[in-house]
Amino acid sequence: MSNHTDTAVSSVTVVGLGLMGQALAGAFLKAGHPTTVWNRTAAKADALVAEGARLAPTIGDALRAGSLTIVCLTDYRAVRELLGASEADLAGTTLINLTSGDSTQARETARWAEERGARYLDGAIMAIPSSIGTAGAVILHSGPEAEFEAHRPTLDALGTATYLGADHGLASLYDVAGLAMMWSVLNAWLQGTAMLRAAGVDAATYAPFAQMIAAEVATWLPGYAEQIDKGSFPAEVSALETDARAMAHLIEESEALGVNAELPRLIRSMADRAIAAGHGGEQYPVLIEEFGTPRTD
Ligand code: NAP
Repeated sequence: MSNHTDTAVSSVTVVGLGLMGQALAGAFLKAGHPTTVWNRTAAKADALVAEGARLAPTIGDALRAGSLTIVCLTDYRAVRELLGASEADLAGTTLINLTSGDSTQARETARWAEERGARYLDGAIMAIPSSIGTAGAVILHSGPEAEFEAHRPTLDALGTATYLGADHGLASLYDVAGLAMMWSVLNAWLQGTAMLRAAGVDAATYAPFAQMIAAEVATWLPGYAEQIDKGSFPAEVSALETDARAMAHLIEESEALGVNAELPRLIRSMADRAIAAGHGGEQYPVLIEEFGTPRTD
């Protein structure tokens, strides 16, 4: 474990200068950190070198350059390929891997890096390159807390550095769970948009209404989360069987308008199973039992 306490101007190395890696290195430079960079295609470092970055000639040199190495490549396979090369000595390094992946890859890569003598944090970037360096760029981290705290002042240059816990898989798990939220909201909006368009209402007219509904529903989450954590689902607002009747309206309306009703039918089938299991008088989040159970059919 590192006894190194970071300062606002600690040196840092960025490995991987794709769209995201360039933004990360740029933000470190802007915050005044001496920044070493390395990329498989060296030309991608040109603009950063012009701004004051040092280009490491080899990956081995990059890993030796500073107290902290940020890795941001296409995927975990590329990370293992690059850092597994004989010239890449991980002993004594601190790696923060901001490459996207799943929790199993994160845990396996943590074990793999630690076996080679590295201190390892995994991370997930919940932002686009242009927002890196602003508070709006949330970057999730998981792994040893002491490592995160030691380097937090450096990580602050990238955005809002958030620590989730010691399990290396957590950052990726939150990242992937966020995808479920993102696509569910977008799919629900697209369903409504298809319905309204069938009635001659354009997408831009419906969008502010959809935005209002999404924002309102989001306010229900903390209260519903309490019900899930307690395992108790009293119908304080409405019962699942009332919701199921509204789902039938959604299916019928979609079919009548000639738009796709697959998603409404899927939602209804989950509710039907929960009602058949005796949960019709309980509140909507009782469906967590459906979501928590694998199905192959
Ligand atoms: P990108 O522009 O495609 O860059 C990929 C980087 O990986 C390049 O530096 C590439 O090197 C390097 N690379 C790939 N395979 C390699 C290998 N075998 N050995 C060495 N280097 C290798 O991708 P990006 O947008 O920067 O994304 C990087 C990571 O950030 C991804 O995991 C992505 O999911 C995540 N992320 C991106 C965004 C975003 O908006 N861009 C947002 C959140 C998270 P070369 O330049 O030599 O090809």
